[in-house]
Amino acid sequence: MSLKNSYMAELMDRVIKRNPAEPEFHQAVHEVLESLEPVIEKYPEFVECGVLESIVEPERVIKFRVPWVDDNGVVRVNRGFRVQFNSAIGPYKGGLRFHPSVYEGIIKFLGFEQIFKNSLTGLPIGGGKGGSDFDPKGKSDAEVMRFCQSFMTELAKHIGADTDVPAGDIGVGAREIGYLFGQYKRLRNEYTGVLTGKGLTYGGSLARTEATGYGLCYFTEEMLKDAGKSFAGAKVAISGSGNVAIYATEKATELGAKVITMSDSNGYIYDENGIDLEVVKKIKLEERKRISEYVKYHPQAVYTEGCSGVWTVKCDIALPCATQNEINEESAKALIANGCYAVSEGANMPSTPEAIAAFQNSGILFGPAKAANAGGVATSALEMSQNSMRYGWTFEKVDRKLQGIMIDIYKNTSEAAKEFGMEGNLVAGANIAGFMKVARSMQAYGVV
Ligand code: NDP
Repeated sequence: MSLKNSYMAELMDRVIKRNPAEPEFHQAVHEVLESLEPVIEKYPEFVECGVLESIVEPERVIKFRVPWVDDNGVVRVNRGFRVQFNSAIGPYKGGLRFHPSVYEGIIKFLGFEQIFKNSLTGLPIGGGKGGSDFDPKGKSDAEVMRFCQSFMTELAKHIGADTDVPAGDIGVGAREIGYLFGQYKRLRNEYTGVLTGKGLTYGGSLARTEATGYGLCYFTEEMLKDAGKSFAGAKVAISGSGNVAIYATEKATELGAKVITMSDSNGYIYDENGIDLEVVKKIKLEERKRISEYVKYHPQAVYTEGCSGVWTVKCDIALPCATQNEINEESAKALIANGCYAVSEGANMPSTPEAIAAFQNSGILFGPAKAANAGGVATSALEMSQNSMRYGWTFEKVDRKLQGIMIDIYKNTSEAAKEFGMEGNLVAGANIAGFMKVARSMQAYGVV
C-alpha cells in the first residue's frame, strides 16, 4: 500500500533507508503515517515544524552486551536494548521483552507504537521499549536471576523514576521484574518506582497484573455496545496463554462470554465447554509447562499443533493476545467467513496490514492494539502515581480508574476517526488521537 501524500511517501522512504532490514518498524510507521495524512492536510504546521520527521526518529537507542554464566559454568552473551523513543509528554515508559526473536527492529516498532498508546491513556508518559534476545524458557530460576542482574547492571545507567520506567512484556513477568528491581535498588541504593509490574510486597499496584487483559475487555465491551452487541453469550477465540491472554479470558468470562480457545507458540487448545482458566493458570503460571497439557485435565478438549489454526475455529469475537503478525490475510478471511463480528487486539500489532484491510473491508468491528491494550501501561502509570505518593490504592479503586480510562480511550478514538471523516475506523482514530497531544507538545518545545 502506498501513501497518497507525497511528503508522507518521502518520509516513509527515508525511514526505510535509514532503518534497513527492520520490517516490523516499517510496518508500524507506515500505518501511522497513512492515518495522519488527513491531519497534516488540516494542520500543515506539523510538517513545517518538523514534528513528523522527529517523531519517527528515536531520541536515543541503547544497545549493550549482557554476559552471564549458566548453571554449567558456561559464559553466555546476549544482547540488550532500550529504545527511548519520545519523551514529549512524560518519562519514557514501555515494557521489556525477553524472547529469542528480539532485535533492534522489534524494539523500535514496539517503542514507536508506545508513543501513541501512552498518549491515548491521557496520562503523562512518553514512549519507550526494551528487551533482549535472551529466552527465559527452559532456564532455571538461578539462570534467569543472573541474566536479569547482568541486564540491569547496564540498564540502570539509563533509567530512573523521572527518566524512563520499564515494565514487563513477553517473557518478563513478576519473577523477572523482581530480579531486575532488586538489582537496581542494590546498584543505586535508592528505593524508587523505577519499574512497574512490581510485586505487591515491594511497591506494585493491585490490578496491574490483570490490567492489560481486563482493559482489553473493557475497551471491547464499549466497542460492542456502540454496535448494539456485548460479550454476554458470545463465543470468544483467544490466542496466547500468557499474562494478557489469561486475564482477557478471566474478564471476558466474567462478562458472560464463553472463551473456547487458548494457545502458545507450539499449538492451540479448543474446549467447547469453555476454557477452565484455573487449569491454564496452573499449567502456565505455576508449572511453566506447555498448553498441550490442558487435555490431560479435560480430555474432551482438543489440542492441535501449530498456532495459526486457532483462527479457523468458529467464534463471534477474536482476541489475539500472543504476538505480532499472528493473524495474516488468510486467517482474517477464515475468521470473517466463520461469522466473527469483532476483533480486538490484546497483543501488539498482531494483525498484518492485509488482515486489517480484510477486517475493515468486511465491516466487522476492529479494535487496534494501541487503543485496546493500553490498559496495561495505563495501570503502570497508576503504579507510578502510587509510588510517588508512597501510598497504595485498593484493587477496586485501580480497576475503576482502569475502566474509566478504557471507556475514554474508546470515545476519543472513535471521535477522532469521525472528525477526520473516517467514522468507525479505530485504527486511524487511535493514531490521530494519540498523535495530537504529542505533536502539540513537540511543537511547543521548538527544535529539540
Ligand atoms: P507472555 O510472555 O506472558 O505471554 C506470551 C504468550 O504468547 C505465550 O502464550 C507465548 O507462548 C505466546 N507467544 C509468544 N511469542 C509467540 C510466537 N512467536 N508465536 C506464537 N505465540 C507466541 O506475554 P504477554 O501476555 O505479556 O504479552 C502478549 C502480547 O501482549 C505481546 O504482544 C505484548 O507486547 C502485548 N502486551 C503486553 C502487555 C502486558 O502488560 N504484559 C501490555 C500491552 C501489550 P509461549 O509460552 O510458547 O512462548
